[in-house]
Amino acid sequence: MQHEADALGCEVDWGRRDMMPDGTVHPCACAEDIKIRVDVFGHPSMVVVCDALRILRERYPHVALVGKVFGPWTLAYHLFGVERFLMMTLDEPDEVHRILRALTDLPAIYAQEQIKAGADVVTLADHATGDLVSPEMYRDFLWPLHRELAAAISCPVILHICGDTADRIPFISRTGLACFHFESKVPASKARWLAGNRMSLMGNINNPETLLRGTPDDVAAEVEKCLQAGIDIIGPECAVPLTTPTENLQAIAQAAR
Ligand SMILES: [Zn+2]
Repeated sequence: MQHEADALGCEVDWGRRDMMPDGTVHPCACAEDIKIRVDVFGHPSMVVVCDALRILRERYPHVALVGKVFGPWTLAYHLFGVERFLMMTLDEPDEVHRILRALTDLPAIYAQEQIKAGADVVTLADHATGDLVSPEMYRDFLWPLHRELAAAISCPVILHICGDTADRIPFISRTGLACFHFESKVPASKARWLAGNRMSLMGNINNPETLLRGTPDDVAAEVEKCLQAGIDIIGPECAVPLTTPTENLQAIAQAAR
């Protein structure tokens, strides 16, 4: 979540084994403040991702590797802070367009770097989440940029957005992105219906109840529901809580098989 943030000049608390990293200082107030160094991909926090992919590629030649980049909306949250950026979407929409434009090349190029390092597909996480961003805002600010990213990245791209995204799945399914990774707040069958056969669907197994606190049988029951609904790739809905029992994660694959 924080690799690009660190490289773009945010301050990052790197967390602990049981605590996710978090950005602490958001350095920008307007589009002009965004400074992307020409050697940004040489920054240690960017290099480490490609190094990890290279090690995994060598060690596991027959396993699909998923890279990950963050889209312009999430990068703007890092650089401006969530609250300030969301206020700008209401008060200064033109400035928001300029900010998003300035932040769209980074994920496009970083995805290509990760493909070179061994990624087979790339996840594009861009948190235009349902309770903070309306579907019209998604359509007007982000939809054209997601279309561009889908075309610019030379492998299948999986978009991830948290929360209830049902109202924007019809837009997302018309970006040219290969797959949408979605949360359990959208029922699997509803997501399938909204996306039609325009893109693949991934995710949907509930994290806080099923994976963190449930049993392997609970996991298997949810996997069954996803299979019935026609979800293509079954997996956790979002970032897996760090203390999730491994047997519950293994139960996803076992149940799906
Ligand atoms: Zn998420």
